[in-house]
Amino acid sequence: MNYPHLLAPITIGDLTLRNRVVMGSMHTGLEDYAWDVPKLAAYFAERARGGVGLIVTGGYAPTKRGWLKPFASELTTRLQAERHRQVTGAVHDEGGAIALQVLHAGRYGYTPFSQSASDTKSPITPFRPSAMSTRAVDRTATAFAHSAGLAQRAGYDAVEIMGSEGYLINQFLAARTNDRDDEWGGTPTRRMRFSVEVVRRTREVVGDGFPIIYRMSLLDLVEDGQTWDEVVELALLVEQAGATVINTGIGWHEARVPTIITQVPRGAWTWTTKRLRQEVSVPVCASNRINTPEVADQLVADGTADLVSLARPLLADPEFVAKAAAGRADEINTCIACNQACLDHAFANKRASCLVNPRACRETELVLLPLPSTVPAGPRPTVAVVGAGPAGLSAATSYTERGYAVTLFEKDVDLGGQFRLAQQIPGKEEFAETMRYYRRRLEVLGATVRLGTAATVDGLDGFDEVVVATGVEPRIPEIPGIERALSYAEVLGGNAVPGRRVAVIGAGGIGVDVSVWLTHTEETLEEWLSHWGVGDPSLHVGGLTERKQRTPAREVYLVQRKTSMIGKDLGKTSGWAHRAVLKQSGVEQVSGATYDLIDESGLHLTVDGERRLLEVDDVVICAGQESVRNLYDELVARDPHRKVHLIGGADVAAELDAKRAIEQGMRVAAGA
Ligand code: NAP
Ligand code: SF4
Repeated sequence: MNYPHLLAPITIGDLTLRNRVVMGSMHTGLEDYAWDVPKLAAYFAERARGGVGLIVTGGYAPTKRGWLKPFASELTTRLQAERHRQVTGAVHDEGGAIALQVLHAGRYGYTPFSQSASDTKSPITPFRPSAMSTRAVDRTATAFAHSAGLAQRAGYDAVEIMGSEGYLINQFLAARTNDRDDEWGGTPTRRMRFSVEVVRRTREVVGDGFPIIYRMSLLDLVEDGQTWDEVVELALLVEQAGATVINTGIGWHEARVPTIITQVPRGAWTWTTKRLRQEVSVPVCASNRINTPEVADQLVADGTADLVSLARPLLADPEFVAKAAAGRADEINTCIACNQACLDHAFANKRASCLVNPRACRETELVLLPLPSTVPAGPRPTVAVVGAGPAGLSAATSYTERGYAVTLFEKDVDLGGQFRLAQQIPGKEEFAETMRYYRRRLEVLGATVRLGTAATVDGLDGFDEVVVATGVEPRIPEIPGIERALSYAEVLGGNAVPGRRVAVIGAGGIGVDVSVWLTHTEETLEEWLSHWGVGDPSLHVGGLTERKQRTPAREVYLVQRKTSMIGKDLGKTSGWAHRAVLKQSGVEQVSGATYDLIDESGLHLTVDGERRLLEVDDVVICAGQESVRNLYDELVARDPHRKVHLIGGADVAAELDAKRAIEQGMRVAAGA
């Protein structure tokens, strides 16, 4: 049996799960509107079909004042509960189990009528919450139990109470956000009372045996968070109050320590889960930055956890479990922890999806239909895909999946295009998994791959359709002495090694990435934690301590012509961490520059009318890209009636990113 520890059944309360993989809660946006229920049902059903042990829904508020945003998901009435039958039924039809998460946003509610333990405003929302009255606290604890009861009526197999990530329950627990002096605050034990009451009242409503998962914060990673002793005390109290499983969360949303993005080492937080598991007798679930069956299986095998929660990895590949079980783990489309299409969408009020799997949350809309059954009688239609960057790889695999005979041409000797460079960036190593996935997928599907072959107009003559995904080339700005500079592609491709002092021209996503690459030195998990100021929670409240200084490998200047903040267009949920690394690595940021000259003394600039020389050994150009599309123009000129598609960076170089490229590749194949 593959992954025997992870894939072993487990019984929680009256519920036996077919394995220990929990699809963790993620707010997708499909929860918010009644008309999206069929899409939500299809999304979960696909994951249940893929073999996951237990699914946890996105959060549903127990009261309107607990909404995440105006008119966000709530479960407060029988009518709403009725609608959920479509979701629970779809999951059960596929042999799966599903829990509903009850979440009160507290001061994270993006509404002017949010409520919390106190009226302290969060740094990540514009609204100041009102402090709940003593009666309101009591009513809200009952409302949690009421929602849980409705979930049970709607056919859910369990409920999860959201007590971590800085939401309302967490806000009650920490002195940071609870300055009450009634029975719901004032001392650690009184601050815990709200959590305990929520669990106790929920148990009363749902009866014995119905699983209650309590998600608790093991490390708050904010000032005036909980101490480790408080975390343990709370775990024991909620266990006594009736929790069946403890799921573990790390960090509040406002914490300035990255907890789940790519640069967080895999399994970085599991030591906290292991420590808690020794204190309680109920099963414990590990979470955060666990994205492979190997890591997940090991956590169960070595006694770190009884269950393992994977949220984004199940967005990326609904068949994660089925592939692992069948010994096909090398076919898993691994989540690369980029947040670009999931959390960044959720925080921008857009429906979540996935960069590596654009079908996520669009299961009923973006469908790769097989070719009509009449087609196989004759020769299959042929498609040439030119360029094996993300756009071309996505198109080639999607067309092949539909039944077309695909030939993929790549002039380079390897797949990947610009994406292959991205995996060189420290903290973006996961991007290599996407290359592994596509390489294997092309093999499994039997597409023809012609590496080291530059497609020509003549050579493409016989194909029914052509997809041009010839990508981009780095832009070379007109600066006197530019021939002395290196391009980012040369540097990341290993064809040039910059000296000790470097100026980077262009501070977009790649300029930031290259600056991180230039300054980075290898770090162990312990060093990574210390660079972010994470300490032993038994010694440091909330797990926060002084940050240890980084020792940068090079002295770097990051320069742009704009005067706006460098890195402001980076991802919503990850950009701040990249900017912090630049700062910690001593990268000097220069904005509002005019480039005058590059010579043997370095880079000559004018900033605010003043001339300045950056005395550097090398200048690296990260000034964006230009589309490479001459092949497309020639093909269209040769035969205007043939289907020739232009996708990815070759289509639009500006704002080129893998999310758009992969989606465009799939859409062109789907005919969408
Ligand atoms: P970019 O974001 O367009 O940035 C290129 C920068 O070069 C611009 O900000 C521009 O800044 C400067 N520039 C443009 N033309 C120039 C010229 N003629 N002379 C001097 N400077 C010039 O491009 P990129 O950094 O290459 O990134 C490409 C794409 O990859 C981005 O759209 C991004 O979405 C994606 N990416 C994302 C991430 C991420 O972390 N999410 C990381 C890497 C890449 P000034 O005009 O101010 O000088
Ligand atoms: Fe993972 Fe990125 Fe997909 Fe989110 S968008 S699920 S982080 S690969």
